[in-house]
Amino acid sequence: MTASGMGRRITTVAAVAVLGLGASMTAAVPAAAAPRAAAVGAATAAEVDYATWQADVKTVIDTATPYIQQRTANASGQKLAIVFDIDNTTLESHYAPWYQLPTPAMKSSLALAKYAKSRGVAVFFVTARPGIIESVTEWNLETVGYPVDGLYVRDLPDLFAEVSAYKTASRADIESDGYTIVANVGNNTTDLVGGHAERAFKLPDYDGLLD
Ligand SMILES: [Mg+2]
Repeated sequence: MTASGMGRRITTVAAVAVLGLGASMTAAVPAAAAPRAAAVGAATAAEVDYATWQADVKTVIDTATPYIQQRTANASGQKLAIVFDIDNTTLESHYAPWYQLPTPAMKSSLALAKYAKSRGVAVFFVTARPGIIESVTEWNLETVGYPVDGLYVRDLPDLFAEVSAYKTASRADIESDGYTIVANVGNNTTDLVGGHAERAFKLPDYDGLLD
């Protein structure tokens, strides 16, 4: 379990190196480039179109934003944190072609992260992505505008644990640093089960279509 990335920046040379690595790794999974066009209102996972997805995400984030406003109104002396999943929660991984780096931010989630930060809430990311792409992941988040107070990636032996157990343990680790996690935002059930957050906000995964 690592909680790295506090204000760290990677060099241009390192960025080029890891970008090359990330591209070649992702190239092995061409299915990541999904079609954007589909019938509006399609209910089945295989046909969810980009505009529907954006609208569905915004509906959830629109409930989280006033909650953050209310929860931070009288938080004197408390260290508050918000936790985000990355793929298809904060970055548009499914709908961005693999060769497009940085992967674009999900606009609603980016606005929520920036708003929470402006209200004194530390912004943490907990992802099932492996540690080998930690640098490019942090670079991606920061390049598209996210405040990054902490980033958890899966290292050995986390790769052998259930994703939900790893993510729950990561939130417990954040709490062990004195934070109260006021919100946990993710698009898969494995992001959200296990507690260690006052509120959970579930974005759509369309029956597992979106990581
Ligand atoms: Mg996800």
